[in-house]
Amino acid sequence: MLLGAPGAGKGTQADLLNRRLHACHLSTGEVFRAAAQLREPSPAIQDALAHMNRGELVPDAIACNIVSERADCLKCAGGFILDGFPRTLGQAVQLQNLMQDQELSLHAVINYTLPAETIIARLGGRRICEKCKAVYHMTDRPPKVEGRCGRCDGKLVHREDDQPEAIQVRLEAYNHSTKPVIDYYDKLKLIVEVDATGTAEDVFARTVLNLGALRHVEFAREMWVLGQE
Ligand code: AMP
Repeated sequence: MLLGAPGAGKGTQADLLNRRLHACHLSTGEVFRAAAQLREPSPAIQDALAHMNRGELVPDAIACNIVSERADCLKCAGGFILDGFPRTLGQAVQLQNLMQDQELSLHAVINYTLPAETIIARLGGRRICEKCKAVYHMTDRPPKVEGRCGRCDGKLVHREDDQPEAIQVRLEAYNHSTKPVIDYYDKLKLIVEVDATGTAEDVFARTVLNLGALRHVEFAREMWVLGQE
């Protein structure tokens, strides 16, 4: 499970982990963004998108439904990577019930940490490819051709929830609702802290290293071996 403030790079790290592990990557934020492209989104999804565009958390019932509907992802042979879920204590409890029903266990919860000023700078300058979802940054990782994706030539967009007012709301939601989730998993001794400053490759190397410290966890052992390759 990947937790951490918005802009900490959870999605990028989930992609990198996924390339190594071939696990199922379930990002609730990505599900909502994909649903925004539907011609006729359901009323629940329309409600979710209105919250999301303002930077607020989507109501628990909708976020939990998204995950329950995709419970098969949690049973993927390569394991699963939950990205951006749970974000509230209520969601954490519902996930625990779901996992108990499916006789699944959680191996590690990675908490990506980043100073507030870096979060604001990262989100404000972030641009996403509309087509392939590649992530750019206006100053740290600019595209070769302005406004176009170097991978697929898709159009780069500034996410509505990366606008300054929405960023503030997202940070408040994180401090108020998601930080208690970190304490919850800390008490269960599942938290692995990872410093999210630096490049995506730096952060990935730290992720592998810190997971390697959990030697009793089979998953982490595999990661540790991969990190030595
Ligand atoms: P993300 O891509 O993970 O940063 O998520 C983008 C937005 O989707 C968040 O700011 C929320 O509005 C919404 N969202 C994603 N996951 C959740 C969740 N587990 N609970 C509530 N809202 C969520």
